[in-house]
Amino acid sequence: MSSYIDVLLPVPLDALFTYSVPPSLQGSVERGRRVLVPFGRNKTCVGLVMKAHDTKPEFDVKDIKLVLDDSRIVTDIQLKLWHWLSDYYMSAPGDVLQAALPGGLKAVDAYRPKTEQCLALAPELRSERGMHVALDMLKRADRQYKAFACFLSMTRWDTIEGATTHEPVVEVTRDELMNSAHCTSATLKNLVDRKLLVPYEREVGRLNHGGEPHLENIKPLNEAQQEAYNKIMFSFLKKNVVLLHGVTSSGKTEIYIHLIRQALEKKQQVLYLLPEIALTVQIRQRLQRVFGDRLGIYHSKYSDAERVEIWRKQMSPNPYEVILGARSAVLLPFTRLGLVIIDEEHETSFKQQDPAPRYHARSAAIMLAAMTGAKTLLGSATPSLESWNNARTGKYGYVRLDKRYNDIQMPEITVVDIKDLQRRKMMNGPFSPLLLSCIRRALDNGEQAILFQNRRGFAPMIECRECGWTPRCESCDVSLTYHKALGQLTCHYCGRTYAVPEVCPCCGSRDLRGRGYGTEKVEDKVMELFPEARVARMDLDTTRTRNAYERLINDFSAHRTDILIGTQMVSKGLDFDRVSVVGILNADSMLNYPDFRAYEHAFMMMAQVAGRAGRKGKRGLVILQTKSPELPVITQVVHNDVDGFYSDLLEERQLFHYPPFFHIVNVYLRHKENAVVSTAADAMGALLRSWFGGRVLGPDKPSVAKVKAMNIRKIVLKLENGIDRDKVRVYLGKGKEAILRDQRFRSVQVYFDVDPL
Ligand code: ADP
Ligand code: ZN
Ligand code: ZN
Repeated sequence: MSSYIDVLLPVPLDALFTYSVPPSLQGSVERGRRVLVPFGRNKTCVGLVMKAHDTKPEFDVKDIKLVLDDSRIVTDIQLKLWHWLSDYYMSAPGDVLQAALPGGLKAVDAYRPKTEQCLALAPELRSERGMHVALDMLKRADRQYKAFACFLSMTRWDTIEGATTHEPVVEVTRDELMNSAHCTSATLKNLVDRKLLVPYEREVGRLNHGGEPHLENIKPLNEAQQEAYNKIMFSFLKKNVVLLHGVTSSGKTEIYIHLIRQALEKKQQVLYLLPEIALTVQIRQRLQRVFGDRLGIYHSKYSDAERVEIWRKQMSPNPYEVILGARSAVLLPFTRLGLVIIDEEHETSFKQQDPAPRYHARSAAIMLAAMTGAKTLLGSATPSLESWNNARTGKYGYVRLDKRYNDIQMPEITVVDIKDLQRRKMMNGPFSPLLLSCIRRALDNGEQAILFQNRRGFAPMIECRECGWTPRCESCDVSLTYHKALGQLTCHYCGRTYAVPEVCPCCGSRDLRGRGYGTEKVEDKVMELFPEARVARMDLDTTRTRNAYERLINDFSAHRTDILIGTQMVSKGLDFDRVSVVGILNADSMLNYPDFRAYEHAFMMMAQVAGRAGRKGKRGLVILQTKSPELPVITQVVHNDVDGFYSDLLEERQLFHYPPFFHIVNVYLRHKENAVVSTAADAMGALLRSWFGGRVLGPDKPSVAKVKAMNIRKIVLKLENGIDRDKVRVYLGKGKEAILRDQRFRSVQVYFDVDPL
């Protein structure tokens, strides 16, 4: 019985809030349950009890209104992980709560169980004799008789010690009965009115298992896979984290499946993290075929009600044994986690950008595993430099698979110099003659092609041919992308749309042209060049709805489409049988990105896209188009020289003080007024420099210095390994406080991005 509680609220404030508990509710408050509390002037808010106690605070506190749960909805481990997230990534605990709980658990009454109308036999009829009486009554009502008899054949009661139990063993829904008896609802209503059947509502789960899964046996591993499996298990004896570095199509997923089975046999739960929803479609189908409804899926495209049900199931006595999910699944409750698999562990989308907490799901998952005593397996054909380095230095175990399953050869990569072809006027739009002839041949052979272009929309930029004017977003410091299908210009930073101008507002010229090729324009061009081909496009614009990915992927996989055009989405772990050609239309857009990780990301992207070629049957072909064929990174992609690439990269990172040798923390300041944010950033920079000296770079304008009407400044902290990071965080917090205390900067937003990508 506690009279006070400290409550965590989903607000970006660095504090818990204390409330008093009226005597009637004192028996039901407990750490981990939700309460409804007054907040601010007239608001109520759902919060999580962190501590129940009897210490009367020195200030006035208000009563809570309600306790929402009759048992706790989060585990202690979760609270521990959340605490770590808020501490390490320097975001408010309320932000972590906000990110972790599905909306339905944060809003009062938002979650309502879904129900189904059922029918039961009236209690007084539940005996052999009763049923005969009923049938007798219906002798002259033919339709009712038929429906009632049908109902009797469908339902069933158990008899316990001669007496019929109250609850039917087999429940019959109205819909089922109407279907089976071919009767109308009017007929059923008659049966209810005559008190033969009693209607009731049954709660049903929203969780869709995709029908009765057709369970398959697990495929036996081949020799190389078995050896890798054994090495992983052996490595787990000594290390908590193991990196499985296996080329594309080496059969890593099959190894995961064997590891999952092994964990389930030990009654452990498994968390299988994937970077993006695009991947969950195929992997889900593969896992579902083996594990059926022991598998639960959790990601942001699921409705809130579904996510609430999964959450509740995880807290129930029989939770899902395997959870497959994207980033946020790491925040779910687990009670007996034994294994975490992080597939495509190099993917940058594991890192949350905005809003806070800006956490990396890989780090969070490794931390969660450490807290629960589970093991973590990282898998990739192109590991992140961080994980590669951790393996190299012995912090992680390391297992390698160098051959593709079934001895299929790695794809043959041909580099095409588009600068030279452009000079000789031999390019056809974004296509070299070689790429076109390869696509032609693939189509003639009944094979498929994937074309990768890293820009969505029609033309990434519009330009006046007379004066060079280009339309820019009014709220952001970027040029607008032309979307032809929408007939609009769109800002890819804030989503704002604009009409396409007919004349240049600068010089009045009508000669406005699009520059560059987005996926939409590539699609147009492909349809023009190969009118008989069935073409599909996969990018952010074509996959906004929940089932869009699935349809695109299933269509391509069943060969209902011939050519798939897409952004980086097509590079992700997809497994198709008949892709004989992959075209990388323009490698330079990735290589020229102004970021120290540009080459790392470009290498991984190219290697991954290339890996989609020739996965079954014959050797695949990759055409890599670039204006800079002489770059070493291009040669390293061609030879799949991962080791060479990483050792060059490590040398460079050491030289220029970048990760994994140095930790980076970015400090951002945001404000509507450019002058204000500029002065604030200078002040913050000076303050940080007084503490951290030469580790501080900036402030500078980031490459996009204005987003959604907010001007941005960035300060970079490079911290050597071994520095006391707890202390660093304390000082950064002090710096932020000092800035916000200054009258001039009160409305400046200051936030941190720890280990940015
Ligand atoms: P990766 O995850 O390394 O890209 P996959 O697990 O997707 O590789 O395997 C590539 C293809 O080879 C898939 O179609 C998969 O079904 C098949 N495959 C891999 N291992 C086996 C196995 N042991 N038995 C049968 N098929 C396998
Ligand atoms: Zn102009
Ligand atoms: Zn904008």
